[in-house]
Amino acid sequence: MRVNKQLVGDELKEKDLVSHTLCGVCKGKLVEFADYDENLGIKFSRCQGCGAVSYNRIASQEFLDNMYNNYDEAYDWYNPDQSEAVTFAEPLRMAKHILRYIKDKSPRIDFYKIMDFGGGSGVMGYKLAELLLQNDICKKVKVSVVDYCESTYHSKNDDIVIERLFPIYEVSDRDYNIIIASAIIEHLPEPANEMREMFGRLKSDGFLYCRMPYAYPLFKLLKTFNIRFDMLYPGHIWDFSPEWYEKMIPYVAQDLNIKMILSRPSIPETTFRSHFMRALLTRIMKAPWFIFHCWPYVGGWEAIYQRY
Ligand SMILES: [Zn+2]
Repeated sequence: MRVNKQLVGDELKEKDLVSHTLCGVCKGKLVEFADYDENLGIKFSRCQGCGAVSYNRIASQEFLDNMYNNYDEAYDWYNPDQSEAVTFAEPLRMAKHILRYIKDKSPRIDFYKIMDFGGGSGVMGYKLAELLLQNDICKKVKVSVVDYCESTYHSKNDDIVIERLFPIYEVSDRDYNIIIASAIIEHLPEPANEMREMFGRLKSDGFLYCRMPYAYPLFKLLKTFNIRFDMLYPGHIWDFSPEWYEKMIPYVAQDLNIKMILSRPSIPETTFRSHFMRALLTRIMKAPWFIFHCWPYVGGWEAIYQRY
């Protein structure tokens, strides 16, 4: 199940760790509750305010910067030989998935703006732009890619303009119709900062899609069978339960009118074509939730918010 073993692996040392005691979402106190890595003294901790799960020690910014400078192999794992620089197999699936939930609520206007936040090359935003055009929802789209990754996806359509802006504070537009934040928020040491910026750049009626790990229950379950589930630490600093998605709104969008219109286990990252066994296991683990609606072993969660 390792995604990027060579990036998050054994070279993490005592000197690379810094203490982590306050929640980066609500500033609540992080309280330790279980062991993660006994050798390095790393424990899971839970925020007393918003309920986010994190660790008592996280990697220093220097270590993380160095790790992300070598992220190409992680991208290649998802879409081998595609040079798509995105941590999601077959990104058109994600575009179709998002559109399915927002299509009926989306106004038919000439021009749409999409922000692809932390989405590597921006291929996901581009695919969604293509679908908007194909479905006659608009006539032109601008996709703003906000990512340290410099190899921005090349537009093959004259009606889709792609720009790269980084970091998010460089984005002056405050009227995005759709913002995608897929598998990125868990990497941010202080997620509230970027989340506030994203919500603040949504147009009235605009949508924010986000997808994050909800992996601690799986880690705990597999530990009882002596299997170590990869939490993708230290890249992943946060793990969020389904309840968190509603609870965090007042902390990151205080003065805005935001409602959650979708909350469910996340769409699987891999496909049978890309990674057969992982794709199969992921779908088996998520399936019970769709029957019982109370099943924590789903690995990840997603939500869509709308500004009104
Ligand atoms: Zn918190």
